[in-house]
Amino acid sequence: MAPSLLLRYCGGMKSPVTDYLNELLERNRNHDGGERASYIPELARANPHRFGIAMTTVEGRTYSVGDDNIEFTLQSMSKPFAYAAALDMHGKEYMSERVGVEPSGEAFNELSIEEDSNRPDNPMINVGAIAVHGLLLEKDTPSQERIEYLREFFSRLAGRELTIDQDVFTSELETAERNFAMGHMLKGLSVFDGPAHGVVEGYIAQCAVKVNIRDLSVMGATLSNGGIQPHTREQVIEPLVARQVLSVMVSAGMYDASGTWFADVGIPAKSGVSGGILGVLPGQLGLGVFSPSLDAKGNSVRGIRVFKELSDRMGLHIMDTEAYSYHAVRAVRQVGDELIIELQGRLEFSNAEEILSQLEELEYNCTDVVIDLTRVSEANRVGRHMLLDGLHRLQEEGLQVSLLDPDNILKFKNSAQDDGIHYLRSQQK
Ligand code: GLN
Repeated sequence: MAPSLLLRYCGGMKSPVTDYLNELLERNRNHDGGERASYIPELARANPHRFGIAMTTVEGRTYSVGDDNIEFTLQSMSKPFAYAAALDMHGKEYMSERVGVEPSGEAFNELSIEEDSNRPDNPMINVGAIAVHGLLLEKDTPSQERIEYLREFFSRLAGRELTIDQDVFTSELETAERNFAMGHMLKGLSVFDGPAHGVVEGYIAQCAVKVNIRDLSVMGATLSNGGIQPHTREQVIEPLVARQVLSVMVSAGMYDASGTWFADVGIPAKSGVSGGILGVLPGQLGLGVFSPSLDAKGNSVRGIRVFKELSDRMGLHIMDTEAYSYHAVRAVRQVGDELIIELQGRLEFSNAEEILSQLEELEYNCTDVVIDLTRVSEANRVGRHMLLDGLHRLQEEGLQVSLLDPDNILKFKNSAQDDGIHYLRSQQK
């Protein structure tokens, strides 16, 4: 968690974020069209008035409004997390040979198998998710162990012990002929080796794990945060696995509505027939909305409306091209024999490119160059590497290079020193 500022003022200022969410909830409460999922009898009995919204930041602050402590089953929202578990276990190559990552453009319960490879199209539709479940652990792992493994994995993501809704589980089992058919088909195609019946039963149990809307947003924030659970700080998922899961959520998370969803909302997401929608804004937020009535494609009616508004009003569409109004090089000053170059903002590829192109253009009527990083807020691996590369090139031109990096943003103090780059400790004038 970020260190909180020590303020003397102890008044009643309250962050308005909860109020924003409450406004969203109230504005959408009357949009109660749609139908509850009826093919799972227990879900058809859900209270259609339930409505909740939650948001968790990567720093671990959770905001929630409405029915935020009511539990509902994950259903298809379990699929990205089960896929993450399988990727963590077997790696991307093994999984890609068995389950594809192409959108099927079909309903969630369609039997979409790629013709040449016999792979299910993707892990977000039932046939792909059943395959993923069957690939977890070993081929002879008893069904109960697989279920327990996932329940425990989901609990680590949520940061509390989650349980399985036995009523929903048995209710779905009674009407799951189509899922059983898919299980047998997959087994017939040798996608997995375990017993088809047990695998489908396990998949249905995975769908019946209960969460509340706060849990869902925390689980999403974990994906958003490179796999680090923002409350416990545990690295539950590897960063590249989180990236893979989010990529598939973009193309297939909302089934055959994925294209429209991404254009309108622009947030990787996954819906479930219980009425939940999980949203993940990489590097920023996990979002959860719950309301049981669904549209014809099986996505929560209120959930879709809330996400559209959230994205518009809070500027969360990840394809937004609104430029940030700062330049990576804030100022260049010559003081005596020194050229001081002040940088600012985030140091990633495009800002590093701008800095390097300016370093290329500058006239060096000096012997020393000081790079001042005091106003650089953060740097990623590529940004660090590129800047260091630029500094070496300045050295090769015969310049003395010093770095002013009071917050150790570049985190390469030792190697920079080894490379002859001088570290300045105090603020330059
Ligand atoms: N358990 C449900 C099923 O297999 C999940 C589907 C969904 O949430 N879209 O039909």
